[in-house]
Amino acid sequence: MLLDNEDKISIKKVVEELEDRPELQHVYLHKLFKRDHHKGQRYHEKQISLYAEYDRPNLLPFLRDSTHCPLEKALEICHQRNFVEETVYLLSRMGNSRSALKMIMEELHDVDKAIEFAKEQDDGELWEDLILYSIDKPPFITGLLNNIGTHVDPILLIHRIKEGMEIPNLRDSLVKILQDYNLQILLREGCKKILVADSLSLLKKMHRTQMKGILVDEENICESCLSPILPSDAAKPFSMVVFHCRHMFHKECLPVPSMTSPAQFCNICSAKHRGPGSAILEMKK
Ligand SMILES: [Zn+2]
Ligand SMILES: [Zn+2]
Repeated sequence: MLLDNEDKISIKKVVEELEDRPELQHVYLHKLFKRDHHKGQRYHEKQISLYAEYDRPNLLPFLRDSTHCPLEKALEICHQRNFVEETVYLLSRMGNSRSALKMIMEELHDVDKAIEFAKEQDDGELWEDLILYSIDKPPFITGLLNNIGTHVDPILLIHRIKEGMEIPNLRDSLVKILQDYNLQILLREGCKKILVADSLSLLKKMHRTQMKGILVDEENICESCLSPILPSDAAKPFSMVVFHCRHMFHKECLPVPSMTSPAQFCNICSAKHRGPGSAILEMKK
């Protein structure tokens, strides 16, 4: 009700009124936040401790959605209260993904979550940390073996496993890795076949197009001097260059091919590829 009458009773007033009833204050601010992520932004800092106290399940969603709450402060609160999941989220949002990973492994002991996290961040260093941490914990190794196949080379991990260590379900994990690889190989082979067929048909198309004739008549002009490409006096000898892009030039209007760059290209089209600054040539057109 208070929310619907925001113009009559300001947010500030409500919050002040509820100062000694923090659980109600929380309910009010929570509803306000649900309705609008920005309206109560000056109370977001306060809300962190309110959520922590009265409504932990909604703390993480709040931290995710609010762009106004001070991360440092939130981290401090979650740390004090030992809220591991929230702390992990905050650490990774603050760019400290290595500490976040460390927390997942040391506090939560959740290898699946750690792997999920490393996949999300896709950072070589994180995988390295994860492997280092797992190397003396057989169940972690199993988890890793089952999951890293497509992200990190499993050989890296397998080489580091100490001799004589017992790893549960090792056989199944290895079979899974091999199966994953087979699948990848199959996929790549499929892609290769498609690519070859595609390039062949495109090449044929290009060849057909290049074989088409180019009509040159009085209408056509030299793209350099802009006069008709055919001489007015048909008896005079003349030569011209017609590029595949259909731009044509009098032979004498093109720079003489030098020893260093014997191949000639159409001025206009190569100017376009050079990008800004070479537009002068185009303007002549
Ligand atoms: Zn010309
Ligand atoms: Zn051209």
